[in-house]
Amino acid sequence: EGYVAVLGKPNVGKSTLSNQMVGQKLSIVTDKPQTTRHRILGIISSEEYQMILYDTPGVIEKKMHQLDTMMMKNVRSAAVNADCVLIVVDASKMPQKIDEVLEEGNLKEKVPTLLVLNKKDLIKPGETAKRLEWYEKFTDVDEVIPVSAKFGHGIEDIKNWILTKLPIGPAYYP
Ligand code: GDP
Repeated sequence: EGYVAVLGKPNVGKSTLSNQMVGQKLSIVTDKPQTTRHRILGIISSEEYQMILYDTPGVIEKKMHQLDTMMMKNVRSAAVNADCVLIVVDASKMPQKIDEVLEEGNLKEKVPTLLVLNKKDLIKPGETAKRLEWYEKFTDVDEVIPVSAKFGHGIEDIKNWILTKLPIGPAYYP
């Protein structure tokens, strides 16, 4: 059994990615920014692993004080116990530091982190390559994978990366 925490600022595409990864809708994806905060996106269990997909509230707008404390605790414990972490960022936005996101995840120990460079469909391949380079250079993540959650591109790469990080090892997976 393993845990994967999905972290990221609101509107970067966490729910879209989550939905793609489980092949079914777990949450309503909306065009309005910040509508998905404070929400558990889904818990996926299989015999081999459990994937916990959470929103991380509060990373963008500190003024949002009405955080659901229970949910925050859940987010924290999810990330703390995670075997690996996906940090989702929006490739169409200027690169930004992910320290806040990592702090929000409250990771105590160093766990494998994958930076998911989402929405690559919104920019040119050359731009994607530049962003990728930036994140590789200026963040402490183990790997960067460009994807388009909306169009389902790169999802398999993410899954494959996760499988190598789970305690049970990749050999058990088809
Ligand atoms: P969350 O708040 O991080 O969970 O973000 P959502 O999954 O709710 O997505 C926010 C918005 O971004 C929605 O309008 C999605 O349709 C859009 N979106 C998500 N992934 C992609 C992508 O890969 N490409 C594009 N163009 N839009 C995306």
